[in-house]
Amino acid sequence: MVVLLLAAMASGPVAAEPPHAPLGVVLKDGVVFPVIRDHPVAPVVTTPCTTEIVLEGGTRILHVDVVLDPGHGGPETGSVGSNGLVERDLNLSVALLAERELVDLGYSVLLTRRTDLHMSIRQRAAIARAVTPRVFLSIHHNGGAVRPSDDAGTEAFHQAGNADSRRLAGILYEELQAAFAGYWVPWVDTVHQGASSRLRASGADAYGVLRLAPEVTSVITEALYLSNPPEAELMADPTVQAVEGRALATGIDRFLTTDDPGSGFRPAFVDEAMTGTGTGWGCVDPDYSGPSDVSAGYTADEHSAILAAATRLGRSPDWLQRFGVHAMDFFHDLSGRPDLGPLPESSVPDVTGPVVLMSSWTTEERAVLRRVAAAYGITDAEAQKLGAILMVFLAKLMG
Ligand SMILES: [Zn+2]
Repeated sequence: MVVLLLAAMASGPVAAEPPHAPLGVVLKDGVVFPVIRDHPVAPVVTTPCTTEIVLEGGTRILHVDVVLDPGHGGPETGSVGSNGLVERDLNLSVALLAERELVDLGYSVLLTRRTDLHMSIRQRAAIARAVTPRVFLSIHHNGGAVRPSDDAGTEAFHQAGNADSRRLAGILYEELQAAFAGYWVPWVDTVHQGASSRLRASGADAYGVLRLAPEVTSVITEALYLSNPPEAELMADPTVQAVEGRALATGIDRFLTTDDPGSGFRPAFVDEAMTGTGTGWGCVDPDYSGPSDVSAGYTADEHSAILAAATRLGRSPDWLQRFGVHAMDFFHDLSGRPDLGPLPESSVPDVTGPVVLMSSWTTEERAVLRRVAAAYGITDAEAQKLGAILMVFLAKLMG
């Protein structure tokens, strides 16, 4: 009920991300934090759970050649083999091996995660946008197929209508097929074996990492089926993991140094039946920073509405942002804290507006903000703005 109310209030035309020079990432304690904007104290970054914080220290990196994204992490395991091999861990092993090969070839490489870390898809895409790599590769291993096949059921997904992404997918498909051709395994596949695009009914890319960083050439590989016991056995062998890592590195190198067209192309297909993994649902960060400022941007019109509501209520805009968040937390608590599911994308407030309102949250209050943000699957800044929107709405009702 409250969700619908908030969704209705916050909906409106979705503003495009304003173009800006990539701000890079901060590497700190082995974790990658994409920079959202610079701040007098230290850069404002997002955490793996997509929370905005001011992060001091660490090493700033502005650009890399290749970003490797080991899929899943934390409670999002991905596929699990009958031998106990977990996709989350396998993806990371292969990514680390591919990184070593790429570094040997002379490329600069960044991994979205180097440990078992819960991380939202939006955070992975934010990392891609922050360092604008020449290639972004999300590494996965599949689940589900049962149809017997003579060769590995490799799938490579590219960005719809992006010729570079399509060519990269075709080359990676070739390399993975060649890498596994030497193994005698009762493979499985589906009709999607090959290089293609998985779409929403709207025609947009179904996969967030491909859709949310359109300016970066991105591909997802599903090398084989971890759900097929013989293939899980095969992938448990570190030498086979190394073979896959080398195949991915070779494919990326071929993409960057040749005009090879790739192969295995299939038509794009519509399939919205995604697993729902990758929302960062219930994601809880360790405390990367103490009490902090959270700022949200408003348009000039939104800002005057906030000022009018604040005047009517005899409060400050800061109070509005803060009280609105507490009100949302109260409603959620009152209804028994049901699982709300992420707020529809079109209802997530755009916090990139030119008028920036900052609120300072104590550690205790920040926990409330985080709880609300997690309940709606949005960032702290978005939750803060949603709180203000709620208060503008309530002030109008009272007026
Ligand atoms: Zn996966």
